[in-house]
Amino acid sequence: CGIFAYLNYHVPRTRREILEVLIKGLHRLEYRGYDSAGVGIDGGNGKEWETNCKNIHLIKQTGKVKALDEEIHRQQDIDLDVEFDVHLGIAHTRWATHGVPSPVNSHPQRSDKTNEFIVIHNGIITNYKDLKKFLESKGYDFESETDTETIAKLVKYMYDNRESDDITFATLVEQVTRQLEGAFALVFKSVHYPGEAVGCRRGGPLLIGVRSDHKLSTDHIPILYRSSGKDKKSCSTLPRMDEDTCLFPVDEKAVEYYFASDASAVIEHTNRVIFLEDDDIAAVRDGRLSIHRIKRTAGDHPARAIQTLQME
Ligand code: GLU
Repeated sequence: CGIFAYLNYHVPRTRREILEVLIKGLHRLEYRGYDSAGVGIDGGNGKEWETNCKNIHLIKQTGKVKALDEEIHRQQDIDLDVEFDVHLGIAHTRWATHGVPSPVNSHPQRSDKTNEFIVIHNGIITNYKDLKKFLESKGYDFESETDTETIAKLVKYMYDNRESDDITFATLVEQVTRQLEGAFALVFKSVHYPGEAVGCRRGGPLLIGVRSDHKLSTDHIPILYRSSGKDKKSCSTLPRMDEDTCLFPVDEKAVEYYFASDASAVIEHTNRVIFLEDDDIAAVRDGRLSIHRIKRTAGDHPARAIQTLQME
């Protein structure tokens, strides 16, 4: 019932610091109610961030966030002092709707045993049975009883059947959300997209906090729409981000992003936030944030403002 993700881009952080940010974020979301919690972080020795994330670790626990924190500190194979220049960690508190509270039903849910794609989800996917049947017919084996696992498998299916090798993470997620019915806020992480995060929502809350010591390139992020040309091929991928359509710190690469269900979880890190709207797909790539939408509808705002929260 709570989503929290933290991406540090050229801001060196130890695994201990990253986990502290994630656990603190979950604590702030506890009031929303939950029955279990989990995190997904990179393995590896921190030396080369592009390869570290080839090995995603999931730690999940029934019960309180405190119990998850204790479980993290029990892990023998996780060196907390390793430093990451770039890293995406995702964290979740679950309020079970499909499947009992248990470690395997907790989030992040995964695409397969090697954790190629992982996802955290708030809400309910009402057509998950049909999606599951389809994916099972394609040979995907399910391990949990959740509706969410179909999302993790579906994004891998889209990747395995991709039209071109340079398909972006945002495009894959867009293809997934087109298939989903129900309510959701989602954040994805993948071994195939090191240092990248994609978040989206429909009927569930999701916002993004931005922290940087440097001037940001814009105070409004223009929405990127799928091109409406007749040429089917040019429509099959989302437009690429460029300097004019994304947010990044001017003069410096260093930036941190926080995805959360609620502003109360990010306010201690930053007061600059972007509230996503239904059917927005937000992607961080090379430290740059862009926002995509499937189609233009009447009354759409053509940009998302970076708002300044009032600090208490
Ligand atoms: N429907 C999902 C599940 O049962 C997510 C529940 C939630 O919002 O925490 O796993």
